[in-house]
Amino acid sequence: MSISLDQLTIKQAHQGLIDKQFSAEELSETYFQKIEQRDVQIHAFLSLQKKEALAQARLIDQQIKQRKEINLLAGIPLAIKDNILVKHTYTTAGSQILKNFVAPVDATVIRKLKEQGVILIGKTNMDEFAMGSSTENSAYGPTHNPHDLTRVPGGSSGGSAAAVAGRMCLGALGSDTGGSIRQPASFCGVVGIKPTYGRVSRYGLMAMASSLDQIGVLANNVDDAAIILSAIAGADKLDNTSQQPTFAINPKVKDITHQLTNLTIGLPKECFSDQLSKPIKQQINQVVEQLVKQGAKIKEVNLSSLEYALPCYYIIMPAEVSANLSRYDGIRYGNSIMEKAKNLSEVYFRTRGQYLGSEAKRRIMLGAYILSAGYYDEYYRQAQQALQSIKQDFANIFKQVDYLITPTTPTTAFRLGDKIADPLAMYLSDLYTVSVNLTGLPAISLPIGNEGKLPIGLQIIGRHWEENQILQLGRVIEKLNND
Ligand code: GLN
Repeated sequence: MSISLDQLTIKQAHQGLIDKQFSAEELSETYFQKIEQRDVQIHAFLSLQKKEALAQARLIDQQIKQRKEINLLAGIPLAIKDNILVKHTYTTAGSQILKNFVAPVDATVIRKLKEQGVILIGKTNMDEFAMGSSTENSAYGPTHNPHDLTRVPGGSSGGSAAAVAGRMCLGALGSDTGGSIRQPASFCGVVGIKPTYGRVSRYGLMAMASSLDQIGVLANNVDDAAIILSAIAGADKLDNTSQQPTFAINPKVKDITHQLTNLTIGLPKECFSDQLSKPIKQQINQVVEQLVKQGAKIKEVNLSSLEYALPCYYIIMPAEVSANLSRYDGIRYGNSIMEKAKNLSEVYFRTRGQYLGSEAKRRIMLGAYILSAGYYDEYYRQAQQALQSIKQDFANIFKQVDYLITPTTPTTAFRLGDKIADPLAMYLSDLYTVSVNLTGLPAISLPIGNEGKLPIGLQIIGRHWEENQILQLGRVIEKLNND
């Protein structure tokens, strides 16, 4: 085969496996070698499951030898964000409090991937409990951007994005509460999709803010993202918020290049203000011009709620974080400091004081404050009202247009250390992504070009359950870019 094994699409890898051009074991070995070469510098992985992965790959090879039909994802090496439970493997969520914690069960998404014959090669680095935009909040040290090692990969799924961009796996799972799949996808130049809330089961995902969290996919191209997403989607009786909508995810993305004349794409004027860096604005404009040439109708729309999105998110999210993180108490899970503690509260104080990082503590305190008597009305209730107007805003817009195109992030990847001391500056990188979580809508980030070495991302937002449509438009843009 002329193409090297670490540059394949999932379909090419599948074809190569069934044509016996290479074995599943060789394919996985290629990725482990790649990790050995590159991950010393990038630090995308927190743990590797090499023995189990190669054993699983040999099982797939046997099936191929016996001429059994194998799934499209069988033998495909994928990486998993470290807040998703994989039975009998370390699952730390980037926190000291879960150092050496071994998952007792598989998350539903993992059960589904295993049923497909996927090779799970390792767990990826992340901001502690998915709180951050750079992976610098990981208790195990930051991940570096494969395009420029002095830059962050984004976060919180920075390890997954860097693993895909560094060609250290064929795809990865991440989680997205306020942008944690799309923002790192944008910084690392890969595709990242956050599905509609409820499309994918959250069973076995360590909860950050349960009303916003969704598991999604990071991949090298739109087709690969669709294949992986279709494998993990679907209702699950272990997660009551998951649903089986009428339209399942189609693993084969339809080519709609010649149907663009039927589509109207909205550009929210508020997303293209001075807060957006010039090169990103220019490249998005170029993409839009190309779409117009192909016949798409473009409409400027008002997203006046954008100014409430970050304040609303940074109230609702910490309120839920403070409740969800109370389970890490030194008794039920993970690490504990019990010696010399005189009573139970001392165990809590010492364990949490010692093992939680500063961003986790900041959000737990903020959340507890927001929910406390006397402040609830001032903050939480107001945020709920703002949330209603954000939802209304999007509902109105989607009566006029089929899609929204926005930047994924206001800037390209920033330098390690640049924002870590200034939480507010860090929070601003979520400006264009958080509304999508607040409204439960699906969105995808696609690489559309570069500023120097640094990738630029474009976000497509669709109506609820219209993942197939955003994947289709994503593919059109991907094709325009590659031609
Ligand atoms: N960067 C955002 C935050 O820190 C989003 C996190 C996420 O999506 N998990 O809250």
